[in-house]
Amino acid sequence: MKAMSRTLELLELERRHVWPPYTQARAYFEHAHPVIERGEGVFLFDTEGRRYYDAFSSWWVNLHGHSHPALNAALAEQAARVAHTAMAGQTNDQAVLLAAELAAMAPQGLTRVFFSDNGSTAVEVAMKMAFQYFRNRGETRRVKFAALTGAYHGDTLGTVALGGIDIFHAIYRPITIPVVRAPAPACGACPYGRTRSSCQGECAADIEAALLPHADELCAVVVEPLVQGAVGMGIYSPEVLRRLRAFCDRHGILLIDDEVAMGFGRTGRVWACEHAGIVPDIICAAKGLTGGYLPMAVTLVADWLYEGFFGEPGDSRAFYHGHSFTGNPLAAAVARVSLRLLREERLPEMEEKLAAFGAVMRFFAARPWCGDARWLGMVGAFDLRAPDGTPFPADYGMGRRVNIMAREEGVYLRPLGDTVYLMPPLSITAAELGDMGARIERAIDRALATV
Ligand code: PMP
Repeated sequence: MKAMSRTLELLELERRHVWPPYTQARAYFEHAHPVIERGEGVFLFDTEGRRYYDAFSSWWVNLHGHSHPALNAALAEQAARVAHTAMAGQTNDQAVLLAAELAAMAPQGLTRVFFSDNGSTAVEVAMKMAFQYFRNRGETRRVKFAALTGAYHGDTLGTVALGGIDIFHAIYRPITIPVVRAPAPACGACPYGRTRSSCQGECAADIEAALLPHADELCAVVVEPLVQGAVGMGIYSPEVLRRLRAFCDRHGILLIDDEVAMGFGRTGRVWACEHAGIVPDIICAAKGLTGGYLPMAVTLVADWLYEGFFGEPGDSRAFYHGHSFTGNPLAAAVARVSLRLLREERLPEMEEKLAAFGAVMRFFAARPWCGDARWLGMVGAFDLRAPDGTPFPADYGMGRRVNIMAREEGVYLRPLGDTVYLMPPLSITAAELGDMGARIERAIDRALATV
């Protein structure tokens, strides 16, 4: 009998033993899919030697490309020293240095860093901090959180409560805290009749109106800055974020800025909130923190908030939260080099990259199947449209068809429903962007030919 190929063997082991995330496993295991074994720059390679553009930065995490020599070296060097030590009655050099470097890059005043391991925990930590901050001050009425429709802030129960995407969140409503829900900007079909260029953030009034009745019970409003990612790359005006900041200031509510997806240069600036010129009270960051190498997250806060937890040993004012891998030195060492690459390479070359990215997005915008082309920094999206300009019926599964064709064209794309988006590593070159765009166009044309 012919020996089973390595790919088939791995797929069979996966089918038997792995529970895939966000996936109806029965359908997933009906088809073969790539088994990635290597990455280099913006490319991933599977066990059959096929090459794919990593168009979504391996779930929005990769900044400098795969298998980057400087990040590899930082990892190996730190592993040779020590991989992990607990932040319990002691600290470690890498986490301390990273905290100081993050504080220097953070918006004015956010100088205190709390470490955790992923985006969800960064937000969960922020929620617990906000709640306890008011408790410690004796403001016991402030027990509620607010978030937008279509929000996505993570998969732990606190962050699921904030979430506003039914497929992810609805089933857990009976076991999550109720959250005040405000309507997210709907820029694809603006109720004020504005276009993206004529928008003046009018819909902020609707957000304020939803929050106002609860203003003195809210401890925090949690928001994805300028781009609601998971719901379909909903890009909205900085004016909305500015008005939200002002509303929170007027009513003594904390503003939690979830930069997990958009932080570290994705939008063209280090932090997305910089586009609005505001300073949040808390920033949550993860994904790109280590350049996409290792799970590490941070919750950045101002010292006045940190000092709100001061008390006596043994009283309940301290923040009783932490994780086994809090401040992990391997991740911290890699993150420090990733931040240096961001400062010394990605940001200085950003203008040039944005011009190339804009050119690809304008190329898409001119295609007949492209609806509501939108982009900010190196995040771009459009909605697939039928020849008459309307959305495809859901049961066509157009996004899924495009995904399969894109893979054949050598692009790892992963649309959100019928929204195709590009969020490549920031290190991608202009030539690679152009080539990737042409392959995506071919994939879409081929997918359209199947309906
Ligand atoms: N917040 C936002 C805005 C996100 O996009 C995500 C993940 N996509 C998270 C939080 C959760 O991050 P993680 O998957 O690392 O838990």
